[in-house]
Amino acid sequence: MRNYLAIIGLSVVLAGCGSAKTNADDLAINNPIQTTLDLTKVTDDKVPVTINPGRFTWETVTYRLPRVVQGTYSVSDFGKYVDDFKALDYKGNELKVTKVDVNTWSIEDAENLDKLTYYVNDTFDIETSGGIGGEQPFSPAGTNIEEDNFVLNLHGFIGYFDALKNSQYGLTVISDLDFKRTSALEVKSEFLTNDGKAITTYAAPRYFDITDNPMMYGKLDVEEFMVGDIKIVLSVYSPNNVHTAASQKETVFKMMQAQKNYLGDINSTARYDIYLYLSDGSETAPKGMGALEHHTSTVVVLPESSSKESLASSIIDVVAHEFFHIVTPLSVHSEDVHYFDYNKPTFSKHLWMYEGTTEYFAQHFQIYEGLVEPNDFYNTVMTKINTSKNLDDAMSFTIMSENVLKEPYAANYYNVYMKGALINMCIDILLRKESEGNRSILSLMKELSNIYGKEKPFVDDNLIAEITAMTYPSIGEFLNTHVVGNVPINYNDFFEMVGLTMGQTEVPTNYIFAGGQNIIFDADQTKGNIFFSQMALKNSFWKSQGVQAGDIIKKVNGADLTLQNAQQVIGGMFGWQAGQEYSLELEREGEVISLSGTLEKATGISESLVESSEATTSQIELRNAWLKG
Ligand SMILES: [Zn+2]
Repeated sequence: MRNYLAIIGLSVVLAGCGSAKTNADDLAINNPIQTTLDLTKVTDDKVPVTINPGRFTWETVTYRLPRVVQGTYSVSDFGKYVDDFKALDYKGNELKVTKVDVNTWSIEDAENLDKLTYYVNDTFDIETSGGIGGEQPFSPAGTNIEEDNFVLNLHGFIGYFDALKNSQYGLTVISDLDFKRTSALEVKSEFLTNDGKAITTYAAPRYFDITDNPMMYGKLDVEEFMVGDIKIVLSVYSPNNVHTAASQKETVFKMMQAQKNYLGDINSTARYDIYLYLSDGSETAPKGMGALEHHTSTVVVLPESSSKESLASSIIDVVAHEFFHIVTPLSVHSEDVHYFDYNKPTFSKHLWMYEGTTEYFAQHFQIYEGLVEPNDFYNTVMTKINTSKNLDDAMSFTIMSENVLKEPYAANYYNVYMKGALINMCIDILLRKESEGNRSILSLMKELSNIYGKEKPFVDDNLIAEITAMTYPSIGEFLNTHVVGNVPINYNDFFEMVGLTMGQTEVPTNYIFAGGQNIIFDADQTKGNIFFSQMALKNSFWKSQGVQAGDIIKKVNGADLTLQNAQQVIGGMFGWQAGQEYSLELEREGEVISLSGTLEKATGISESLVESSEATTSQIELRNAWLKG
């Protein structure tokens, strides 16, 4: 960043010496870059964009759209979606443009450059894989251009001049008058024209703010409400009007209130925007479900086909995580994050914190604030442990973070949400033990955000030593062994500290498992039949129906079950829900037995975390400090 300032300073000096005509008022370096998106002039699903900088005083300028945006840890190549790129001089003639790479244009004779014009195609239409491995933007970072909905992740439309990275931006969006318009950027002015258009202007202090402030325009359903002193704006786009903002308002309110309680005074955001795009699964709908964090907003993509309840629980899982990013990386981050290079980024070593701490908070606040029962939390912990074991458990987290765009690290990125959260659970328990319940991972993050904060990055290589100095030698040892080092964590050591042990618990299950992934069928290949195994007796529903181990299943809902169609028929049973009617035809010792009726909720017995009956008072006290707010 300082280098760019040096280059700009030098150019000013040169221009000042060389040109008698120079008038500093219109120089690019002294003026905001004026940008316009005209949503009323969309052709072939493409939005026309105009970029109007001030006057340049040097020969060649480079303009780029981002290759990578912050928070995604993958390549997006937004330049790929730009068509018909033109650089025009003050007389309206085209200047020579060289396309340097997929995201970069070099413009010659830049002293005469008046403006750039181009069209932007949306990413939702073209996505195949939701950005997983396809060098496509992850949907929540992407763009949508439809008749009645625009997802304006502005970094998909607006780029930057290499030499003007710290310039201010002015943005004008022209849209239909009847569109709802929500934006995390502050509105500067609004004009309504006689021919049915709304012209809205915004200002961004620097390019970072262009990338950090998404907008949504169109037929939106918007609810605004206060949670304490923070204004929440929930904008929902449900293409087939399945869900409304009002129907999810209570969920968001309850969740944000608990999150605010949990964070205490760490958060000072005055307004928080949630942009929820519900994908109907059609060809041009976004495929990547999830969300992306910003300082004062988040863009969320979830399936429209969800029931109200399952949408609510996805919102809790996803939006809570994004909101907690306010702590890290938004308020605690390294220089790699602060001086982010959108074209050739370097990556911080600390995804264990940016994503891991955030995901740990998103789970821990639910138990700490009483939204879930201890058993739910223990099951979440066990699911994360089991999932993390399917990834490389002996990969250094700091090396993975620093090389996250490359294999084999990229394929292990998902572990930031699993092992990343578990690393933080262990640190949380250890900190509480060392401090006799006075400190925690949350209090440590508060201390770090007081030392650093939104505008002051830490030095990437110094963080672990700094945390060690701020806390206890055991924290440094843990981080160096299991986060910098590649030694898998023995979670039982930490469970022991809080009086938890492995044991059998009753957990909700479906109609083909008995808790966990324990399937309740077996097959006899020689006889070609499928039968209930001993495991079926551990499924509460089948046990209540009098099923016995060895019962051969002849028919499911009237259809014959064979080895050939087992995949399909049992796959269908996987989707069974309580309340549905069912029928089975069984054969037991040559006799036909028919079962039928209404499915009731099933539970199974699963190996999970349980509270040890032999826990000491101090173990129980530590557990209470950890889980009971
Ligand atoms: Zn995240």
